[in-house]
Amino acid sequence: MISICNKLKDDQPSLPEQVGFDSTGKYSSSSFQSVYHLHQDLSTYSLEDLIAECLHAFRLAKFMELSGRYFVDGTGKPVPVTKEDFLETCKILVCNFVRSAANSFGVPGQKMAAFKLYPTKSLVNHSCCPVMSHSSFGRETFVYAIRPIVSGEELTISYGDYFNTEVKSVRSEKLQRNYRFVCRCQACEENWPTTKCLPAIVLRCEYCNKPHSSVDVQCDDCLPRTRSRNAVAKKAPKRKQNSQVAPALRVLHRVEGKIRTGKPISKEEFRRLCEASEVAFKHSAMPSKSLVGFMGSVEVCADAGLMYTG
Ligand SMILES: [Zn+2]
Ligand SMILES: [Zn+2]
Repeated sequence: MISICNKLKDDQPSLPEQVGFDSTGKYSSSSFQSVYHLHQDLSTYSLEDLIAECLHAFRLAKFMELSGRYFVDGTGKPVPVTKEDFLETCKILVCNFVRSAANSFGVPGQKMAAFKLYPTKSLVNHSCCPVMSHSSFGRETFVYAIRPIVSGEELTISYGDYFNTEVKSVRSEKLQRNYRFVCRCQACEENWPTTKCLPAIVLRCEYCNKPHSSVDVQCDDCLPRTRSRNAVAKKAPKRKQNSQVAPALRVLHRVEGKIRTGKPISKEEFRRLCEASEVAFKHSAMPSKSLVGFMGSVEVCADAGLMYTG
């Protein structure tokens, strides 16, 4: 076991060329090396967990040896397994277990039986309020935006629960157990509530763009300024903002109603939903039931195939 652990320690990649980049610094998504060098940070494993993985690998390597099908010569005839070959096989197996645990995606329809590693998709980080979701059709896999993406914003997907479906402590425990990291997304840092306690909508101040709880279009900081400058300023932009957000929410409610009752949604409705989502995200802020509703509806439409068929 100690020999396997020492081998693992020696094999930690450190140079860019060892983790999937070519000599010009470009990431190669078509090379097996890129998959082979996906994240496999053994330092996040406790000694007990690492020993368990080594035992698992040892057992599997022994089965491989006994089967007579894996350690063979050029003609397929079994050859005696040297200690060095056996340890090398154990090391590769442990690395694969660790790599798969952190980077793999369940194959739809065979969730518990098969996992896939992708050189590019597996690089995407997690957020409890992600900007993208992902799906697979046949052998193809893809990611797509579920809300407008601000220039420079990190592209993220969720590895498990969204912030609105599970409380932070549960999400955190699952992420640490399955992926061995502490989530620092905005939803976790600010401890956003789950759907039950979310406000229906949080408007953005028309003047400073900050979220605020008032029904006015200005936040409290901007209210005295605009009021003293112009007595009608308080009313005029309110009509303007409502006139944009309200129709967007109507589109959402219509689509949500159809989803709830299992009715099909047309491509035209899906297009309108995406447009309405852009308007809603521009004039209101996270976290709110409405914006979560837009994200969920886009996902349902994508899963129904509306995104891929033009
Ligand atoms: Zn988070
Ligand atoms: Zn303001």
